Amino acid sequence: MDTSCIFCKIASGAFGTAFVHEDDAVVAFEDLNPQAPHHVLIIPREHVVSLSSASDAHDAMLSRLLRVAAKIASERGIAESGYRAVINTGPDGGQSVFHLHVHLLGGRPLAWPPG
Ligand code: 5GP
Ligand code: ZN
Repeated sequence: MDTSCIFCKIASGAFGTAFVHEDDAVVAFEDLNPQAPHHVLIIPREHVVSLSSASDAHDAMLSRLLRVAAKIASERGIAESGYRAVINTGPDGGQSVFHLHVHLLGGRPLAWPPG
């Protein structure tokens, strides 16, 4: 745990955040500033700065992040209509919180290419 990291604190339960999903490796919760009718963040419990910081040791966790995104999409009834799972990475990727996370966005048509 990185005590200066907001997502580590959320994952630890320090803020009493309601989890959409939790297991031994990952937790999921609603984004504070939703960009779509469904906007959930799925994060590892372990402090990993970004996708670029992940190693072979993180393969199972990375798989879990994506599978949990798909599970939540299915539970919310947006698997058929479609959704997007996004990992913003680094400055050009638009990453603003430096604890790896997958954005699950859905419930409206999403433009491509992104801005
Ligand atoms: P990034 O820009 O790094 O890809 O995404 C960070 C996301 O975290 C943003 O969508 C932002 O709204 C969300 N966020 C930042 N701080 C908090 C917080 O304290 N709680 C929650 N639930 N979401 C946060
Ligand atoms: Zn962290």
